[in-house]
Amino acid sequence: MRVLHVDQLFDNYAYLLIDEAAAVAAAVDVAEADSVLAAASEAGVSIKALLCTHHHFDHVGGNEALIGLLGDPGLEVFGYAGDAARIPGITHPLADGESFEIAGLRGCSIFIPAHTSGHLAYYFESQGVVFTGDTLFAGGCGRVFEGDAAQMKASLDRLAALPDSTKVYCGHEYTQQNLDFALSVEPGNQALQERVRAVAELREAGKPTLPTTIALEKQTNPFLRCNSEELRASLAKRFPGLSDDPVEIFAAARRLKDDF
Ligand code: ZN
Ligand code: FE
Repeated sequence: MRVLHVDQLFDNYAYLLIDEAAAVAAAVDVAEADSVLAAASEAGVSIKALLCTHHHFDHVGGNEALIGLLGDPGLEVFGYAGDAARIPGITHPLADGESFEIAGLRGCSIFIPAHTSGHLAYYFESQGVVFTGDTLFAGGCGRVFEGDAAQMKASLDRLAALPDSTKVYCGHEYTQQNLDFALSVEPGNQALQERVRAVAELREAGKPTLPTTIALEKQTNPFLRCNSEELRASLAKRFPGLSDDPVEIFAAARRLKDDF
């Protein structure tokens, strides 16, 4: 199994999850069908499934075009069952924690609402890979559009509970901006300082900063670090009277990042 990045729009990633033995692939979050199809044909694989993390146009805007271009009535399109009306072409609505098989791989849905009310992650336990859309980013998290801070924190906590070695593929190349914010609230975090340097090198070389890992996120992502004393102290300077409640700390960090 391997995962291919496909650049989409300005700073989005679609992915091809490839089973090399069978020469088939699942596509994740397609905004532009042409480039995803070109990447699949260059890799010598045919797309048999489409995984959609959430309804935003930069994640499902290419669904109809991809379905049309593939012309395969057997194409399986996955998304959250409760949001089926907003996932174009959906054929396989999933509940939370539902197993499925695609491209020879067994995956499982993880319901992680708050960025949107119908957001899913797709977890492949045997391969140690998770696709997190716009919920968990490298060094950050998505904006809370259709939920609240408590819900987003709970969603992130579910992802943080995956094994440390799990590779995380998210929906956008936002890592550098995210880490700028992270460093502003946790300047003494050594793992974070090192990561800032490593990410700068990758970007200068024109390379993606993904995948990240759950372990690295727990060390450097402020939205998974609500127990950090330095983070709490930084936020308390901006939000006097901030309590020790992790949800309140999360909400303060998210509010600060919204205007960063
Ligand atoms: Zn989104
Ligand atoms: Fe997005």
